[in-house]
Amino acid sequence: MSRHDAAEVETVPAPSERTEVRRLPERGVYDRDEITAIVDEALICHVGIVHEGHPVVIPTNHGRVGDALYLHGSPASRLLRAMKRGEEVCVTMTIVDGLVVAKSAFHNSMNYRSVVVFGEPRVVDDPVEKERALAAITDHVLPGRWDESRPMTDAEARATLVVAVALDEASAKVRTGPPEDDEADRELGIWAGVVPLALVAAAPVPAPDLVAGAELPSSVIGYGRR
Ligand SMILES: Cc1cc2nc3c(=O)[nH]c(=O)nc-3n(C[C@H](O)[C@H](O)[C@H](O)COP(=O)(O)OP(=O)(O)OC[C@H]3O[C@@H](n4cnc5c(N)ncnc54)[C@H](O)[C@@H]3O)c2cc1C
Repeated sequence: MSRHDAAEVETVPAPSERTEVRRLPERGVYDRDEITAIVDEALICHVGIVHEGHPVVIPTNHGRVGDALYLHGSPASRLLRAMKRGEEVCVTMTIVDGLVVAKSAFHNSMNYRSVVVFGEPRVVDDPVEKERALAAITDHVLPGRWDESRPMTDAEARATLVVAVALDEASAKVRTGPPEDDEADRELGIWAGVVPLALVAAAPVPAPDLVAGAELPSSVIGYGRR
């Protein structure tokens, strides 16, 4: 859970009409803690809008404080302009935990944890909330980086639009475990199983203009998503 949690997180009571997972409904999860754990671990999200009658899905960064999902960007971007108008968005996050390799191509699958959120964005004008949101977005990528960084300038704050989407109408879907092959295929001598996958950081590469003595910060040392 994010270290920026402001409020006690409540349990999601039941899916709404449009967040109810229909295929394999046993994989649907509406528990608020499970949803926020996926939101916090997923490095990026995808935001879907309808622009001039066409669906558009844009990948971007996010951060979370309590039940507020924060998104940010240039006020000039199409996505941020649409959100500033309060147009409804659908935000998704996906973590792939493994490749599920079955004896038949039909039963190949993936182990995953994903979230779908529907909501109307709210522009964050309050300077205190805006700074907290920007810290959350920064620390979502690299925990602790906000405090390690040079303080934000007023010009940078003015150049950044922040919106909040409430995590009120959200669902998760989770698949775990081995392949589910057909009974008739059980005796086939074809390998089947799971190839676990994880997002792993390689060795950090220092910037070419790094001044002497600038040490690796704790946000970068041993970086991982979990
Ligand atoms: C990595 C990955 C790979 C997948 N590959 C396939 C594939 O190849 N083919 C396929 O058919 N499906 C795949 N899925 C599942 C897919 O995301 C949908 O769950 C699936 O299409 C079933 O949709 P539906 O018609 O039952 O529900 P829909 O009517 O499409 O959805 C109803 C509501 O259920 C919720 N919901 C549905 N799916 C998800 C989800 N994944 N996460 C969170 N909430 C959800 C949403 O709130 C949505 O509004 C994959 C999912 C992931 C994460």
